[in-house]
Amino acid sequence: MITPKWDNRFMNLAKMVSTWSKDKVTGVGAVIVNDDKKVISVGFNGFARGINDDVDCRHESPEKHHWTIHAERNCILEADIPLKGMTLYCTFFTCSVCAQEITQKGLKRVVAPEPDWNHPRYGEGQRIAVEMYKEKGIEVTFYKEKVNNHIAFWEIGCGGGKVHDIVTEDKFFEYIEYYKKKLLERGEKVSGYTINKDLGLIEFDLGAENKKHLLSFGEYEINDFIFGRK
Ligand SMILES: [Zn+2]
Repeated sequence: MITPKWDNRFMNLAKMVSTWSKDKVTGVGAVIVNDDKKVISVGFNGFARGINDDVDCRHESPEKHHWTIHAERNCILEADIPLKGMTLYCTFFTCSVCAQEITQKGLKRVVAPEPDWNHPRYGEGQRIAVEMYKEKGIEVTFYKEKVNNHIAFWEIGCGGGKVHDIVTEDKFFEYIEYYKKKLLERGEKVSGYTINKDLGLIEFDLGAENKKHLLSFGEYEINDFIFGRK
């Protein structure tokens, strides 16, 4: 089963693949996976193999639309096996032509960011793509960037513990160092710490008597902390 966690992973992979595109305006990446979470194919928007993509005028609109293969289509063309029942991830919502191919190949799910339905160039094709998916029974997931990239830290204590701080994921280690400094300032003899990701626990070693100071952490969810407690 493909969980939201894996949706994130495959979308991140599609984003990475999109950087391989030489398109001057929008690099798009696509990934096809099967139900076992196995990557079957990747594709980006670019020219066919053997076609010179270093000719500048071929990259100018409207000419480029004749040269460029869309990422989703490339991904389908690159796959060596039947794609029935598989999922396609794409960093840009599919056009109607790619939707035709996705439908015809029997994919069962499309994951992509919700398009700008009123976009003068793409909106109409994307609306038709969705109509096609609905009619065929292809599941569409409008992917949202993970907005909740915050981590909460709290101390274990009576009453369920107290939230200390909420930081963004990239500040995880910085916060631990900050917390360690605070413990040292309080006179605790912190010699080091270990992070137990499974338990969501940081164990600060205090001195030689095997004493520990425990700090819990976990993904911050707004509802968890209504009362300042987890
Ligand atoms: Zn397309």
